[in-house]
Amino acid sequence: MKVCKFGGTSVASAQQIKKVAGIVRSDPSRKIVVVSAPGKRFDEDLKVTDLLIILSETVLSNKDPQEQLTQVITRYKEIAEGLGLGTEIMDVIQKDLQNRLAVDKGNVERFTDILKASGEDNSAKLVAAYLTSIGLPAKYINPKEAGLLVTSYPNRVQVLPESNSHLSSLREKASITVFPGYFGYTKEGVLRTFERGGSDITGSILAASVNAELYENFTDVDCVFAANPKIVDNPVEIDIMTYREMRELSYAGFAVLHDEALMPAFKESIPVCIKNTNNPIATGTMIVAKRDVALRPVTGISADSGFSTLYVSKYLMNREIGFGRKLLQILEDEGISYEHIPSGIDDLSVILRSHQLTTDKETRIIHRITTELEADDVHIRNDLSMIVLVGEGMNNTTGLAARATAAISRTGANIEMINQGSSEVSLVFGVLKQDETKILKELYCEFFTSALVL
Ligand code: ASP
Repeated sequence: MKVCKFGGTSVASAQQIKKVAGIVRSDPSRKIVVVSAPGKRFDEDLKVTDLLIILSETVLSNKDPQEQLTQVITRYKEIAEGLGLGTEIMDVIQKDLQNRLAVDKGNVERFTDILKASGEDNSAKLVAAYLTSIGLPAKYINPKEAGLLVTSYPNRVQVLPESNSHLSSLREKASITVFPGYFGYTKEGVLRTFERGGSDITGSILAASVNAELYENFTDVDCVFAANPKIVDNPVEIDIMTYREMRELSYAGFAVLHDEALMPAFKESIPVCIKNTNNPIATGTMIVAKRDVALRPVTGISADSGFSTLYVSKYLMNREIGFGRKLLQILEDEGISYEHIPSGIDDLSVILRSHQLTTDKETRIIHRITTELEADDVHIRNDLSMIVLVGEGMNNTTGLAARATAAISRTGANIEMINQGSSEVSLVFGVLKQDETKILKELYCEFFTSALVL
C-alpha cells in the first residue's frame, strides 16, 4: 500500500485534479490520498490558505467578509464545474464555510485555525467526490473521526504518538481514503493546524501508521535538486538521499518537504519519494535510511537567510560552572529557541532565527547577560545567512572542509561562523546575507561541476 500526498499546485485547478486522478488510477496500491488546499495556479495567484487567512483577519476586524468569502467559494466552484461535479458538493462546501464563520471568535488562534483548515478539508471532500464520479470509489475521512490527535495549547502543535494506532485502521478500508492534510484535533476536540506546508506531516504520519510500502509526496518538481535551481543553472538532480540528508537540507531552505514531515516516516523506516504531478513518469527522488556514499560524499548545498547571532565573551568563561545554562535560561525566558552554539574558550555565539527577536527582547537579553552573567562583551548581529553543505559521505572524506573554505575565500567573502554538526552529515557556514548567493554558486561549482567532482 502507498500513501500519496498531493501539494497545493497539484489540486489548484480542475485540470490538476484530473492529473491526480490519473496518477491514483494508474496504481491500485495508492489507497490513501492526502491533499493540500488548492494552491497557486500561476505565479501571482493566491493560495486558498492565504485567502482563508485574509478572510479570518477581515472577520476578526469586524469588517464585512463577503468579498473574501466569495473569493474562496469561487475557487472551489471553478474546480467543481471543471470536474463536471453537480451542485451538491458546492452546497456542502458553502455550508461548511458558513458554519466555520459562525463559531466563537473569542479565541483568535482557534478561530483562525478553524478557517485555515477548511482549505484542505473541502479540498479532500471535492477530490473524493471526483474520484467516485469517475469510477474510483473514494471516501473523505476527517482527522477527528480517524483519530489524528495533536498537542493542546499552549504547546507547539505536534502529533501525539497514540494517533498511530488510531490511524492504522485506515489500512483496512476497501475504498480509497481521501484525507485532508494540515490539521488534527486535541484530545479535547479542538482543531489545530500545523505550520504552513504541514500537509506533508499528515501524509507522513499516515504512511507510518498504516505501515505503507512507500510515502509518495507529489509536488511540482521532478526531483530534489542539489542546489536551488533559482540560483544555480540546471543543478544536479538527486536520485537518492538519506532522511538525515533531507533533514539537513530542508533546515536551510529546501522547501520541497516540510522539515517535520520526515520524522514519522523515518521512525518506521518508510521510504519517501518526491514526485511530480505534472510529470509522474519521472522517477523522482527517493529518501531512505541508507545510501551508498562511495560515489558522492556531498549530496546538496542549501542556503537560508534570516539568522542572527548573539555574541557573548567573558574572561575565564570556560571555568565558570553553569554559565551556558544561565545564558540559555535567559533565552528561554524570552521564548527563544537556538540553532547552533559555536564556542571558544572565553566566548560563544548563539545563532538564532531572527524572527524571534524584537528590539525590546534584544535590549532585555543584552542587559541581563551584562548584569546577571557579568559578561565582558555582549552584542547581537542580524542579517546572517547559513550555508549548509550536506552529505553522508563527508565524515570520512579528507580535505572537504579545506575545499569548501577555499571556495568561499575565492568569493572574497568572510566566514562569520563554521559549525560541523556532531553527526558530520553537514558543515554549516554562517556568512553575511549579502554574500549568500555568490558563496552558494562557488560551492556548487567546487563540489558539483569542477574537474574534481566527487
Ligand atoms: N495549505 C497549507 C499551506 O499553504 C498547508 C499545505 O499546503 O501543506 O501552507
